[in-house]
Amino acid sequence: MLICGASFAGLTIARELAGSGARVLVLDRYEIGERQTSACAAPTEWLKAMGVRDSIRQTFDTLVVHTPHTKVDFRLPWTFSTFDYRQLCRQLWEQSDATFETAKIVSRLSSSDAREPSGERRETQSILTDRGTITAPLVVDALGWKRVLAGNEYQPPDAPLSRGLEVHPHGARDSLEIWIDRGYVPAGYGWSFPAGDEVRIGVGSFDPRFHVKEPTVQLATDLDSEAVRYQGNWIPHKLRPATADGVFFVGDSAGHCLPLTAEGIRTAFYFGIACGRELRRVVEGRASAETALRRYGDFSARHEWQFKWMLRAQKLVPRVPPRMLALALRGMERGSFVDWSFGHYLRIAHPSFAKAPALPAASDPGIPVAA
Ligand SMILES: Cc1cc2nc3c(=O)[nH]c(=O)nc-3n(C[C@H](O)[C@H](O)[C@H](O)COP(=O)(O)OP(=O)(O)OC[C@H]3O[C@@H](n4cnc5c(N)ncnc54)[C@H](O)[C@@H]3O)c2cc1C
Repeated sequence: MLICGASFAGLTIARELAGSGARVLVLDRYEIGERQTSACAAPTEWLKAMGVRDSIRQTFDTLVVHTPHTKVDFRLPWTFSTFDYRQLCRQLWEQSDATFETAKIVSRLSSSDAREPSGERRETQSILTDRGTITAPLVVDALGWKRVLAGNEYQPPDAPLSRGLEVHPHGARDSLEIWIDRGYVPAGYGWSFPAGDEVRIGVGSFDPRFHVKEPTVQLATDLDSEAVRYQGNWIPHKLRPATADGVFFVGDSAGHCLPLTAEGIRTAFYFGIACGRELRRVVEGRASAETALRRYGDFSARHEWQFKWMLRAQKLVPRVPPRMLALALRGMERGSFVDWSFGHYLRIAHPSFAKAPALPAASDPGIPVAA
């Protein structure tokens, strides 16, 4: 089996397959954990459920939201933690029994039928890398928004992508903060996520045409921090088919990052576990590759309504006049509302899924997705 991409999604799948007896090769252009791909904040319960709690740098029970007309403290019903990317990746990797190699994935060449030693015919995929061609019966694209194995159909700035950029100055701060302020970005938000001895300060724009370097520098300056150690990328805000041409797509390659909040780590864990469980059934002879593709694809697609709601909110918030937004946020500060809304939000990809049994069949009413 070939897993392309060794970040949140790819490493989760490798971890989920540990002990299954599968021969799993994971490929990435960089060493594991070498290049941080996000501000690295996720619900603490998810980090515990994935066995990576040692990577946690700072934990927050309050989200501070700034607008030009108000500042609101949301006391969260669950906590967020920032973590060390390299350490988290290493800890996920240590829980797997896969093999790792560095290679740049170029494209999917073709699929063809191969004969098994048993005489049975099995479809295999050929993947072109800068180190040669690799053939495998089961292939996962966890390569991020470019969706390389589908032929890179998205081209910014025309595709449904947001853009995010952050700096990582040394220093310490106490609060998890965001800024909904058109002074920084017309549609999007700025953030300051402290992580022990560094702070991750950045700006994300839902409009891919809006450049975020200047506002990121401005926000860092406003926080008396240095704009150093940049990290940025495109962020998908639309769900895409999670399977195509016999390939499994997981994480940003399937658009699994949530619109509005741009939270894509826990969804990469969640859909990575779902995909890993289906692949495990194939390895253990309990399902065909075709069945796994169908079940995983259906599972992902059943979340579409939640992604659509989040996208509606993403489009609505920038249109609300700032004074009205301030009023609305103050109204939402009530504990009961915060518990209700953040509870629903977490259920889109709940940490209990990490311990749940394998995916039920599509017709099973007990599908563990949001209530
Ligand atoms: C600035 C910024 C801040 C963010 N902050 C947060 C946050 O705090 N919390 C949160 O939940 N989400 C955050 N996100 C979103 C989050 O980073 C993504 O949703 C998440 O990284 C998706 O995980 P993934 O494993 O699917 O893809 P990625 O993390 O993008 O990993 C893709 C992997 O594939 C490899 N790769 C790519 N192309 C190739 C190739 N051709 N050949 C070989 N290897 C390749 C890369 O090296 C990488 O290891 C942020 C995004 C940005 C841009």
